[in-house]
Amino acid sequence: MGTQVLEKIVQESKKRLASSLEIEKLPIAGYEQVLKITDKNAALTAIIAIHDTTLGPALGGIRIKPYASFNDALEDVLRLSKGMTHKSAIGEVGFGGGKSVIIADPKTQKTPELLLAFGAAVEQLGGQYICAEDVGCTTEDVKIIRRATQYVVGLAHAKSSGDPGPFTAWGVFRGIQATLARIFGSNSIEGRTIAIQGLGNVGLPLAELLFWHGAHLIFSDIDPIKVEKMALKYGARILPPDQILSAECDILAPCALGGILNDRTIPALRCKGVAGSSNNQLLKSSHAKLLFDRKIVYAPDFVINAGGLLNVSAELEEKGYHPASPRQKIHRIYDTLSAIYEISEKGGESTDAAAISLADYRIKYGIGKRIVPPTFHHNVEI
Ligand code: NAD
Repeated sequence: MGTQVLEKIVQESKKRLASSLEIEKLPIAGYEQVLKITDKNAALTAIIAIHDTTLGPALGGIRIKPYASFNDALEDVLRLSKGMTHKSAIGEVGFGGGKSVIIADPKTQKTPELLLAFGAAVEQLGGQYICAEDVGCTTEDVKIIRRATQYVVGLAHAKSSGDPGPFTAWGVFRGIQATLARIFGSNSIEGRTIAIQGLGNVGLPLAELLFWHGAHLIFSDIDPIKVEKMALKYGARILPPDQILSAECDILAPCALGGILNDRTIPALRCKGVAGSSNNQLLKSSHAKLLFDRKIVYAPDFVINAGGLLNVSAELEEKGYHPASPRQKIHRIYDTLSAIYEISEKGGESTDAAAISLADYRIKYGIGKRIVPPTFHHNVEI
């Protein structure tokens, strides 16, 4: 879309929004604020859920999805925003947990009017919720939302954090080391067999790190050309997508899909640990206990994959983004996971439950609470 056309839409939206935007509070126990946002003229129905802001303003992505019903969208945003509270608390980023969903098909119903109306609602929250891209919402969309609110993060500008993939991969690498230390008493990668499901933005830089540290690699991807090329590059063995989860290996690193740890797959696992970047790896939280009972060490996904969050949240530091700051924090994922493994062992509870207890403890005692308000460096946009 041309700049002039967008400018016209922005100006028209500003005039119209004052009268057409509606924000309704939904009373949901355990959540600070859940807001239903509607704008008939912009065909917008969205929900913003702010779960907890004890440690700082709520930070979380915008998911754009054609949910089957409003209740499905509500269920999703409640689950996701609570997950963000835990992830931020564990990462000690000085943010709380929030998330938003826009009920629309991102391929056909995502208009500038809809995005601007959503942005106007975010602006009205005065910084209690800071939004970013997520499934169905691109950086280009966030750029449009930015025209209606300053409370966005993850845009391309002179001091932006850029591709989170390598940062997430570094966190997963450190998490794999901590998991190996738990299993074998040594964190050395040398000679260990590691199976990676998905060679994308995270899986590929992870493969590179593991290769140089002496791992034997097993790869799987639904893209046959990519997997063959990469297997040649790193001397990896290839397994088809339907066999990777039962690969005999030391560590299985899921870096593709959610819900892969379930009643069907857990009994078939032949790994000693699961440590990868995928979000929502457990189909249900009860599956963490199944892994615990099988003595498979599971690195909770929201702990090991926090590198992306740590990276993007560094953009809001007072001095602006510098990659050394998230690098240092991501490095410590090793210590955080080691502590979680200890809590799990001592308490006889799953690693997932132990991670949630640790997050709740940090919230209760304000550990990692934000002191300086976030700074938005939008003046350096390119
Ligand atoms: P991506 O889309 O770049 O890569 C995913 C890869 O998985 C692709 O190569 C795809 O072909 C492959 N794939 C899809 N289905 C597969 C299957 N059934 N078997 C094997 N391979 C399959 O995604 P990404 O950015 O690398 O993220 C991977 C996972 O990590 C996602 O669940 C994502 O939500 C999560 N995550 C990513 C980041 C990040 O910084 N990118 C941060 C936190 C969490």
